[in-house]
Amino acid sequence: MKAVLFPRFALELIIQYRQSEIYTPESGGMILGRIRGEYLDIAHVTEPGGHDFQSRFQFIRRDYGHHQVALDAWETSNSEVGYLGEWHTHPEDSPMPSSIDLAGWKKVIRDGHSPYCLFIIVGILSFYFCVGCKNLVGDVFFHEFEE
Ligand SMILES: [Zn+2]
Repeated sequence: MKAVLFPRFALELIIQYRQSEIYTPESGGMILGRIRGEYLDIAHVTEPGGHDFQSRFQFIRRDYGHHQVALDAWETSNSEVGYLGEWHTHPEDSPMPSSIDLAGWKKVIRDGHSPYCLFIIVGILSFYFCVGCKNLVGDVFFHEFEE
C-alpha cells in the first residue's frame, strides 16, 4: 500500500464535525472506497444520522442511513466501492485511539471486509490516520499526522 487517496470533498465533510466547540458531540461514519493497485482510493464517507448515539465523548453508529449510502455506492459502482473502515471525532487537539477504538478496528480487520482498512480520528487540530492490514492484525497500525 503506497498511499491513501482521500478526495477533498470528503475531507472537508468530516472536518465540519470537528469538536472545536465545548458542546459539539462526537460524530462519525463509514469510509467507502476501493483498492486500486497500490492505492486505497476513498470514494465516500457517511455522515451522522438521527438514530446514531452522540455525546461529547462517545459516538455509536446505529443509524441505518450509513448502510443505505454504502449499499447505493456499491450498486452504482459495479460492486467496486465498498466498506473500508470508520471515521469519528475526538474532543482533543491531537487525537489518539482509545482502547475501545483499537478493539473495534481490529474487529473490522478480522471481519475481512477488505485486505486493507482505513480508520480516521478527526481531532480539533489534527487527524489520526490508521491503515490496518488483514494479514498483520494486532500490531500493524501506523499513522501520520496532518495539519
Ligand atoms: Zn475514539
